[in-house]
Amino acid sequence: MFTLNELNLGIAQIGIDPSKVTIVAVSKTVSIQQIEDAVKAGFTHFGESRVQEAEEKIPYLREKYPHLFWHMIGHLQTNKAKKAVELFDFIQSVDSVRLAEEISKRAQALGKEIKIMLEIKVSEEENKFGIEPEKLCAIIQKTAALPALSVTGLMTIAPLLEDKNKLRPYFRRLKDLSVEVEKLDLPNVRMQFVSMGMSDDFEVALEEGSNLIRLGRMIFGPR
Ligand SMILES: *Cc1c(COP(=O)(O)O)cnc(C)c1O
Repeated sequence: MFTLNELNLGIAQIGIDPSKVTIVAVSKTVSIQQIEDAVKAGFTHFGESRVQEAEEKIPYLREKYPHLFWHMIGHLQTNKAKKAVELFDFIQSVDSVRLAEEISKRAQALGKEIKIMLEIKVSEEENKFGIEPEKLCAIIQKTAALPALSVTGLMTIAPLLEDKNKLRPYFRRLKDLSVEVEKLDLPNVRMQFVSMGMSDDFEVALEEGSNLIRLGRMIFGPR
């Protein structure tokens, strides 16, 4: 397993300041023991993609390691929003106003402030989920107005392409959108995170402006 320090050194080697980059260790399918090893290796942000799996891991790990941050990164159905709000600190995969409204309602009921990111569909053909860039402005205005929720960034999953250089326009698109959103200067909306880049494409994502990478296999090995 790579340690946080080792990954940070790798990031520094591509000319990017690792102190500006958040690494989310994606622990889907990974055992509690392996997650504990990753905690010992320095990781503090973890990502899960299914609510049911998260329920089996997060409460135990939160009790034992209260300093960790948990990110929901998988597609979230509205009927699972309540559970997700209970479990997670960040929900990165918000892709509709309806889901944001449900998260807001559930967070309010729990007296909790939840941080979300909006998932953007940067590639028409390839992404199943996510907000189309043309609709982002309208959606973010509505989301900004919701109580108990703040928008902390944008997230995307790049298409699967052999030539990683071909991903640059998609990553650049998300970075540009985050700059546009920041200019709107909306209450409860801060583009603190540009969440893009996974094990196979994080170097290119960082070069194109990512400051949050989601690494699963890179840290934990093949799933
Ligand atoms: C699984 C997953 C990752 C991590 O993928 P790796 O290729 O293992 O790094 C990142 N983001 C999302 C949304 C995922 O579902």
